[in-house]
Amino acid sequence: MAGAPIDRAASVRTLPGIGPSRADALSLRGIVSVGDLLRLFPREYVLPGEKRSVAEARAGETVVLDVRLDSIRALRRGWRVTAVEGVLADATGSIRALWFHAPYLARSLKPGARLLVKGTPSGSPLALLHPEFETIRKEEEREFERIVARYPAIPSLPPRVLRKAIRRALEHVGTPDDPLPEDLRVRLGFPEIREALLAAHRPEAIEDARRARRRFVFEELYRLQSVFAVSLRARERARTPHVLAGACPLFSRFLATLPFRLTADQERAIEEIRADLESGRPMERLLVGDVGSGKTVVAAAGIACAVGHGGQAALLVPTEVLARQHARALGERFGPLGVEVGLLTGDCSMLERKRVRERIAKGDLALVVGTHALLQEATRFRNLALAVVDEQHRFGVRQRAILPAKGERCHFLLLSATPIPRSLALTLYGDLDLSVIRELPPGRMPVATKRLVDRKAAEAYRNLRERIEAGEQGFVLFPLVEESEAKDRRAAASAAEKLAKGFFRGRRVGLLHGRLPVAERIETVERLREGAIDVLVATTIVEVGIDLPRATVMIIEGADRFGLSQLHQIRGRVGRSDLPASCFLVTRGPITPEAEERLRAIESTNDGFRIAEEDLRIRGSGELLGERQHGPLGLGLADLVRDIDLLEEARREAFAQASFSGDLPEPIRAG
Ligand code: ADP
Ligand code: MG
Repeated sequence: MAGAPIDRAASVRTLPGIGPSRADALSLRGIVSVGDLLRLFPREYVLPGEKRSVAEARAGETVVLDVRLDSIRALRRGWRVTAVEGVLADATGSIRALWFHAPYLARSLKPGARLLVKGTPSGSPLALLHPEFETIRKEEEREFERIVARYPAIPSLPPRVLRKAIRRALEHVGTPDDPLPEDLRVRLGFPEIREALLAAHRPEAIEDARRARRRFVFEELYRLQSVFAVSLRARERARTPHVLAGACPLFSRFLATLPFRLTADQERAIEEIRADLESGRPMERLLVGDVGSGKTVVAAAGIACAVGHGGQAALLVPTEVLARQHARALGERFGPLGVEVGLLTGDCSMLERKRVRERIAKGDLALVVGTHALLQEATRFRNLALAVVDEQHRFGVRQRAILPAKGERCHFLLLSATPIPRSLALTLYGDLDLSVIRELPPGRMPVATKRLVDRKAAEAYRNLRERIEAGEQGFVLFPLVEESEAKDRRAAASAAEKLAKGFFRGRRVGLLHGRLPVAERIETVERLREGAIDVLVATTIVEVGIDLPRATVMIIEGADRFGLSQLHQIRGRVGRSDLPASCFLVTRGPITPEAEERLRAIESTNDGFRIAEEDLRIRGSGELLGERQHGPLGLGLADLVRDIDLLEEARREAFAQASFSGDLPEPIRAG
């Protein structure tokens, strides 16, 4: 083939068919250079053997047809074009295709054109509704005898042009440097870069394309894990932490006086934490566990170890209510062992805060629980050895990092709110070590979960009234959506009033939402704990950490408005003892198919890890990582559900690589 060599760094405009406006369209996807374009991965392939004849088309089965356009016309109602109808034919017969919202097709498609069409026939007689298609030009006919790569749609850039540009680039660009170290690539059996690019864009066999994809996915994951490995090692070099080794009577006594037996997972997590504290490396560990799996006691064991070795420990939580709950629970454990628990929140009086801060600074208070007040400049520690952050997702990355920075040689433990799949944890928190609690304490029964639509919701309220008779408690939860926060709050307040006067007359109904003064919120939770409130009407504030063993009924109004992990977290507020508990998912009016899928998932299982995996499946890793995360992480191709094996392998290799250096490969773009 003729043509001068093309530089990978050259603009895509050096390629045939790419003018200024098409170059602009490409740049919107982050594709500027020829090298970038080669990293645009096909989203699928059409195999020659995959094409079916028209006669073989069946209702409900997706087919690829290689057809001639017999006729095409716009269907109108009055002047308005309602659809464009084409008749597609091959030697075996003909089938109708209808395209909506695309009146221009009636002009741009010409009878006699050869089309590659993909769609799912339906109806009788069979028709294709809005099928995907592309025109096969005469000069491209030979291309369609082989495997055809199909790329993500890019506005104003016909697939034919894109393919031709990529073909040219493949032919005239020299072999790029391979971002994967040669020995690693060979050992893992991945194709080298040039071969992989060819196989991705113009595979001879579909198996080659698959191998190429795995190579690029690996490359992408390896790159990210290498960043983690490097940052972890830098951290290790930068600090020499407290070495909390040797016998620790406080730790032993803490474990010996627990009122229950630890689960095997809790024991293992505690062991992992202890090993970190002893190791001479600074711990940075994420503890992932299901709602109610008992993460607090694991953190407390770490605290016992730190304090027992003469260090200070601090526990940061997102709300006042949770701070008090933890201070009380830790007080019950540590008080008898002679360790005082300090409380530092925005709600404490100035004087109290000042006193607590002085004692922390002097080092005569070894353990403190608090909210954001802990993070303020004025809070200084004498000897902070362990920083713990509960419900860590409620804090920003920078915010989280403030607490451990208050101790020169501090260990760091983060607690998750809900389970997240391992693959996601390794991707989002890959520079942390991971401990996982999968099992719940014994005796917990799954929360019976039931959906109730519209007027059927009465069943939930009747059930709650019966439980109250038996001395139990329940929640009625209303969604809080930011844009209409005031409205939702009003809804909760007026519902509380109505329920108190009507259905729950004579019972004690409490109200909790984020706009109530803190003191009132704390008092309400106190009264709930003492059993002085039977029903708590609330907005999502209860989703965070409250632990009330006698609460057995959760009614979620507008359940379709919550996300999957949120629903799981909310449901986790009941069923925290051996009393049987129920959760009612109430919806009123029509709901979206996605909401339908979420509710079905939450109804079908109580296993938070399965729910988290389902969430990942439903939404895809792209959305779960969030656009914000996705870009910088450079994960365009990897699918955290499908590629988990490659992720584990990439992590192993990246961390094993003693001194990864050099430039990181550029990210791969999603296909
Ligand atoms: P979460 O993991 O959601 O933060 P918590 O730490 O609040 O859960 O624990 C939930 C409840 O389970 C608490 O009342 C706690 O005392 C209790 N608990 C924790 N571990 C065990 C265990 N091994 N056996 C029995 N109860 C336990
Ligand atoms: Mg908790």
